[in-house]
Amino acid sequence: MLCSAAALVPPTTHRPRASARHAAEEDDDPYLSPRSRLAGYVLNGGTEPAFSSPLNDVKQSGDFVCARKGCDAVLFRTDTKYDSGTGWPSFWDPVDDNVKLEKGNFLSFMFGTECKCAKCDGHLGHRFDDGPIMKSGKRYCINGAALRFRESIGAGPPPDTFPDAPPL
Ligand SMILES: [Zn+2]
Repeated sequence: MLCSAAALVPPTTHRPRASARHAAEEDDDPYLSPRSRLAGYVLNGGTEPAFSSPLNDVKQSGDFVCARKGCDAVLFRTDTKYDSGTGWPSFWDPVDDNVKLEKGNFLSFMFGTECKCAKCDGHLGHRFDDGPIMKSGKRYCINGAALRFRESIGAGPPPDTFPDAPPL
């Protein structure tokens, strides 16, 4: 099962630190953190490698919000999450109209309908028609890097989550 045409890893960039001042500037760079870079890459249309997201294993109650800095739209909740075996966090239903669907692509029969954050237009993943038949029958195959997990009060310790993604 595929989540996208290709599971691409963002290019790694290594910039030498020329001076202490330079280093301080780099620390303020939202693209410096590898996970922050991955979130930006995914929200702009990329796909994270399968089985790479710590959110795959999240089972405790909570909200999955958009990783875009300043967006914070609640996109999915744990009670609609399931293990699809694909290697990407999978859900059978989004929260309200917070996830918008974009068809139109002639390849959508193969790669699913694109899912985007309705608030910031960030790319989230794709929706397929092979979800749990006792639920919606839909599978929202979502890049974990496009999400941050916000646990419910009293749900236990939070998992390793992604930091804010840089703006477009
Ligand atoms: Zn968003």
